[in-house]
Amino acid sequence: MLKFHNTLSGQLEEFKPLDGNNVRLYICGPTVWSFAHIGNFRTFTFGDVLRRYLKFKGYNLTHVFNLTDVDDRIINEAKNAGKTIDEFTQPFIEAFWEDFDALGLERPEVTPRATHHIAEMIQIIETLLENGRAYESDGSIYFRISAFPDYGKLSKINFAGNVSGASGRVDTDKYDKENANDFALWKLVDADEPTGWGASFGRGRPGWHIECSAMAMKYLGETFDIHAGGVDLKFPHHENEIAQSEGATEKQFAKVWLHSEHLKVEGETMSKSLGNYYTFRDLIAKGYTATAIRYLLMSVPYHKQLNFTFETLDGAEQTIARLRDFRKRLQEANLPDGINPNLQTKVSSSLDDFEVAMDDNLNTSIALAALHNLVRETNTAMAHAVACIEDRSVILHAIDKFDQVLNIFGEAKTEMLDAEIESLIEERQEARRNRNFPRSDEIRDTLAEKGIVLEDTKDGVRWKRK
Ligand SMILES: [Zn+2]
Repeated sequence: MLKFHNTLSGQLEEFKPLDGNNVRLYICGPTVWSFAHIGNFRTFTFGDVLRRYLKFKGYNLTHVFNLTDVDDRIINEAKNAGKTIDEFTQPFIEAFWEDFDALGLERPEVTPRATHHIAEMIQIIETLLENGRAYESDGSIYFRISAFPDYGKLSKINFAGNVSGASGRVDTDKYDKENANDFALWKLVDADEPTGWGASFGRGRPGWHIECSAMAMKYLGETFDIHAGGVDLKFPHHENEIAQSEGATEKQFAKVWLHSEHLKVEGETMSKSLGNYYTFRDLIAKGYTATAIRYLLMSVPYHKQLNFTFETLDGAEQTIARLRDFRKRLQEANLPDGINPNLQTKVSSSLDDFEVAMDDNLNTSIALAALHNLVRETNTAMAHAVACIEDRSVILHAIDKFDQVLNIFGEAKTEMLDAEIESLIEERQEARRNRNFPRSDEIRDTLAEKGIVLEDTKDGVRWKRK
């Protein structure tokens, strides 16, 4: 049973989608004003593990992952570079997806850009103005926190003492400062400022928070299953998303909120001034592989702090090399005929352990331990010559199952070896003789996925690559 620690309730909860088998998921994406750093990618790797595991559990997924392509910094940087915001952000958007793909992160179903959803933002702001939860001040529009008593329910910050209308508001969307209550939904822009959009309440540009509310509700509906992001977004960004969305719809926004914890570097907060700030590209330039970076980023459960060190990254490189080598040796080994029931039991219990760990709020460190256990048991069996031909396909199949979520075995599995195919065909024949048709069909499907076509002839089964 899949359970998540829901930041909103503060509890470990059984996960049940609102709509049968369909899961609707929103994850806050990057602000595309520079190259994403490894702290960003820790969150996005967590998002990838989450989406892959939901699919592993058999759910259908609609996953929305936005790109923030307008904010104060983007506007200023574009201006300094003498470019429009589109010209300025385009190379960073391209670079972002390159990094994303290199890390083996699966592309979400919907990847909207904020600047393409201004009309939806304006609509929410109009509703909030009508129902009194927003007001105009000096040409900008602010959210009135005193009109939303639930404010603080996600971050558990008590605002009772300092909620007093417009006082203390801060006219920035970079961060709303401590005790800053009301926040900007829409900011007035100067008449000569090129970045701006017309609205019934005046020409301006959106605040950062409203972007996510608009894009989430457009593609996932007013109420959806999971909203996730980095813990640094919990307050004020996510708290404000809830206030704007629920303040407009009077319905619950997201049911489950998941937050991935901070990444530290050598025990310190990552910062440019400390010289310990790394983009994904910096690590690749140092000669590290994307898969090892991915492995390291998911090796600690998302809800715990991850201490990134070069020592652990070196360790991750070795681990990946060892795992791939193991898989190759198993594929190529000259194994005795038959089957080892003891080893088969170990394979299925390692898969069970993996699923139990992942069901427990995505405990990736225990899930990885289950994989390493399987490798150890198989190595021992091979060393004692008690791993057999029919065990091979079962173990390789188990590795594929693990890798649906982990995605670390990489290129090595793109093509099936003849021995692996023949061993699977043999197993399928055996399953058919035993009238185990589900297993026989499963094997046919596995082979079909790998582009292997089976042909039943009077001389037995023939196969060919598509
Ligand atoms: Zn967001």
